[in-house]
Amino acid sequence: MPDPTPIHVRFPNGKEESVPSGILAGDALRHWDPSSHAAALAALWNGVPVDLATPLLTDGALAPLTFEDRAGRDILQHSSAHLVAKALVESVPEARPTHGPPTDDGFYYDFDVRPLTPADLDSVRTAMDRSIEAREPFVRRELSRTEAQKLFSQNPHKLRYISEVPEGEGVSVYDTGSFTDLCRGPHVPTTGWLRGVHILGFSAINPEDSSAPALQRIRGVGFPTRALLDTYLKMRTEAEARDHRMLGTKLELFTFIDEAPGFPIWLPNGMIVVHELEKFVREHLQAAGYSEIRTPLLFAQSVYETSGHWEHYREDMFLTEVEGRTFGWKPMNCPGSMLIFRSRARSYRELPMRLAEFAPLHRLEASGTLHGLTRVREFVQDDAHIFVTEEQVEPEIRVLLDWIQRAFATFRLEWSCELSTRPAKFLGEKETWDRAEATLERVLKGSGVKYRVSPGEGGFYAPKIDIHIRDSLGRPWQTGTIQLDYQMPIRFGLAYQGPDGQLHTPIVVHRTILGTWERFFGVLLEHVGGRLPPWLAPLQVRVIPVTDRHAPAALGLVEELRAQGLRADTVGTEDSLSKRVRNAEVSRLPYIVVLGDKEVADGTVALRARGTKESRSLSRPEFLAYVAGRVKAREFDP
Ligand SMILES: [Zn+2]
Ligand SMILES: [Zn+2]
Repeated sequence: MPDPTPIHVRFPNGKEESVPSGILAGDALRHWDPSSHAAALAALWNGVPVDLATPLLTDGALAPLTFEDRAGRDILQHSSAHLVAKALVESVPEARPTHGPPTDDGFYYDFDVRPLTPADLDSVRTAMDRSIEAREPFVRRELSRTEAQKLFSQNPHKLRYISEVPEGEGVSVYDTGSFTDLCRGPHVPTTGWLRGVHILGFSAINPEDSSAPALQRIRGVGFPTRALLDTYLKMRTEAEARDHRMLGTKLELFTFIDEAPGFPIWLPNGMIVVHELEKFVREHLQAAGYSEIRTPLLFAQSVYETSGHWEHYREDMFLTEVEGRTFGWKPMNCPGSMLIFRSRARSYRELPMRLAEFAPLHRLEASGTLHGLTRVREFVQDDAHIFVTEEQVEPEIRVLLDWIQRAFATFRLEWSCELSTRPAKFLGEKETWDRAEATLERVLKGSGVKYRVSPGEGGFYAPKIDIHIRDSLGRPWQTGTIQLDYQMPIRFGLAYQGPDGQLHTPIVVHRTILGTWERFFGVLLEHVGGRLPPWLAPLQVRVIPVTDRHAPAALGLVEELRAQGLRADTVGTEDSLSKRVRNAEVSRLPYIVVLGDKEVADGTVALRARGTKESRSLSRPEFLAYVAGRVKAREFDP
């Protein structure tokens, strides 16, 4: 029964309205702006995603969540997972659903069921279409623990989830037609929203507890319309041809093995690229006044208690016991840099102090989320911590934005910034956060870069600017980040002596620009379709002799190129000339050089640069200068 006392609801444009208490979130949004309501699949109520059917009972802030928002996208993916579970249970009634989360590129649902067959998927698709046609609503119900246990008495997986719900907290379920699933929600209003759902496939999944039976995973992706799905499917075909995992194997750059899931194995060719990227970044560090450090990969638990990682990040860390003490593999470089700053008394004259570290970091990503180089458990960042005074924050961040602009231009990557503000769970005072957020926004505005604000998405210790790049298929990727931190220096008791002779706490800027070598390289590889710019290419020049007669000249040229610091090789003459040229093209080499009678006699080379059909004749000194010049300038094209 609606309470006659009105409540006050604030909307994104700052408009505040008085509405009857108990009004549904969806109705309040429609009332505020009928057009934005049409795109809303859920709502953000005081920063928390909720169903559109949620009654509003207090004053608060309300915003629509659409498929364009990350949270809205996740809700649609997860609702699609419910639909898959409903459809599978309809066709295979003994299937026990376990869980069905959204992922970076869609969703999955794991089932405790006999091995599935393609025919099962056909029935699932038919049942899904039926439900979508009927626009079945997702209806939330709150149950007591006992009621929930009774409802799911035949499903040990759901019983385990129920037992994990904290004491005193209610258990919620969602009904979709005749199907009921244990879930916190929220969901899209009806299955009519899932018109663009698509099943990608199924596979057996080994559970973490190896004695338990394998689960069957159905993977899919959801869109609010058929048209968006069709666009996606087209793009996916293109993306498959550029998949960095496929290119990594083909070009012998990196690999993975089952015995080290999520831990990249860099092959010699891949290491060349990593070293070139490091060199590129180190040149900037040197010019911008950074120092490089190296701190331990493992720290005792107490260090993470100080940094706050123990409280907020422990579940994502690899832990290890040594001589009765617990050590954690560092998931971030921050603690080491803090300890170095604290290692002796510091003066304001040493600030800004810029400490860079390229150490391997470890994060316990769930095995189901691992994906080639873009989601891994071990990685290296182009990481640095900058210790500054309040006045130095703005100029430092301005320099960083400038470096970002130059760095991404080198790779011809499109990029934009996202300012993420205070999350629900945060360290420190609200006022400090406000000040930090205001500073970041001022610098972003001043620098004229493209950015948008993501309320509530900041890290637990600091607001941040995330850097997103778009690859050549238009897909967004998060790479670098700039975080302004007032908390960790206090937690570590950092201080410097100011010009006033007093001790002050520095502010720390945590920043990575390219992000992790792994993800950046994976995205770059797909962006260029394996055609790395000459400066990054593991092999830059292949010299091909027409016959055995020309082999000594070819070897001589290779030696000359190597003496100039270029990466070159030659091949024997077992295969036909055209086959050797084709092989070099398939390997996406930037420069192919052919040496025959004419070239050896004239002291010239016939050069084929990647992307050109014709070869051109250059004298050997011209050729050497040309290639060395392109590589040194880090030109994007050969
Ligand atoms: Zn759900
Ligand atoms: Zn850090």
